[in-house]
Amino acid sequence: MTFTDLGLSNSLLKAIKEQGYDTPTPIQAKAIPIIIEGKDVLAAAQTGTGKTAGFTLPLLERLAQKQPHMHKKQIRALVLTPTRELAAQVAQSITDYGKYTPYRSMVIFGGVGVNPQLAALRKGVDIVIATPGRLLDIAGQGGVDFSKLECLILDEADRMLDMGFIHDIKKLMKLMPQKRQTLLFSATFSPEIKKLASGLLRDPVLVEVARQNKTADQITQVVHFVDKGRKRELLSQLIKAKDWKQVLVFTRTKHGANKLTQQLEEYGITAAAIHGNKSQGARTKALASFKANQIRVLVATDIAARGIDIDQLPHVVNYELPNVPEDYVHRIGRTGRAGQSGEAVSLVCVDEHKLLKDIERFTKSEIPKVEIEAFKPDPNIKAEPIQNGRGGGGGGGRGKGRGNGGGSRNKPRSNSSHANNGGSRDGARSRNRNRSEG
Ligand code: AMP
Repeated sequence: MTFTDLGLSNSLLKAIKEQGYDTPTPIQAKAIPIIIEGKDVLAAAQTGTGKTAGFTLPLLERLAQKQPHMHKKQIRALVLTPTRELAAQVAQSITDYGKYTPYRSMVIFGGVGVNPQLAALRKGVDIVIATPGRLLDIAGQGGVDFSKLECLILDEADRMLDMGFIHDIKKLMKLMPQKRQTLLFSATFSPEIKKLASGLLRDPVLVEVARQNKTADQITQVVHFVDKGRKRELLSQLIKAKDWKQVLVFTRTKHGANKLTQQLEEYGITAAAIHGNKSQGARTKALASFKANQIRVLVATDIAARGIDIDQLPHVVNYELPNVPEDYVHRIGRTGRAGQSGEAVSLVCVDEHKLLKDIERFTKSEIPKVEIEAFKPDPNIKAEPIQNGRGGGGGGGRGKGRGNGGGSRNKPRSNSSHANNGGSRDGARSRNRNRSEG
């Protein structure tokens, strides 16, 4: 199977070749022809499977095949993503794959000034990639026209629901033509996702690749049991002894991410933190230095890390296990992408034994445990409840419950557009509902 067999035209094939891809991934092989046909698709695909190209390539192909006569560029396709990082990532893919096509695309998300976004919209674009909150703000000001929309794509829909974007999505939907193609991508098919899909999709073709909840096979996983107070020492030692050059480290809270970053620096290891309390500029800069190998460690919280796509990222460390088992799958999916091998190390203290069990049950596999003699846990240390950093030092962990985070969602939304106000709009919204952008 080659990309040529999938019905893509030469301008796309040329761009694909330049990306260095020669064989479509399973999700691409399945989804691309169906999407080109114009069908709605419900796809279960985890990050790292090549899903982004799986929808951007056929989207570009369809735009080319159905060229309408419009005096001015109008929005023909919209991709909604849960985070700014993912939006930027998808936009980059569209730019890369669409290099030899005439389509103009733009990203819309919070945390940055709204005026350049409004100006770009006024000039006219074919494709918009957006997070729901900011897009709805702009729509509320009459800044977008979806009347010519042909295709709507929801990427990482499960995470959008987790982050409480459902109401925003529904409001946006009311502004779109009924007759359109809709594609929904989600890592998992929860009952909520099925419900959303049944309201949005028409006769969808179900596309599934890897088994649900399964972690990628090419990722080597290991657990080291260690006392909480000695984790940073063990981490520094692992990084130095194994000479890791590029490590993505997950903490549960923003406060924890900041603290660990500082401690690593004290051990002489270059590090930066990325989380929802950082300005968009700081997040972009941290990611860029990490990608360019200027810093060795990027410390991230779960939501901030969604959409981070780094070619050949070899190591992921769970400095703290996530409260939600699915997040474990997402975290370690940052490595071992597109067939590359990767290593995921989890540092687990006595407080986290239950979380580890939950993860193993969820992924239906047991993670190998390797004892490190010098860091054997002290049997006298008893388990304590896990602190999610709430109330202290700007933490804001994630509630264990996946439900509605309380009565804040009916608060009237302000119509003013926030330029960079330190924290992000999206972050503030999810914080309100107990699902803080960590
Ligand atoms: P995604 O799951 O969309 O985040 O993609 C994961 C990674 O796979 C990205 O770094 C892509 O550039 C890469 N990728 C996507 N399609 C292919 C392909 N057919 N062959 C090789 N790499 C690919």
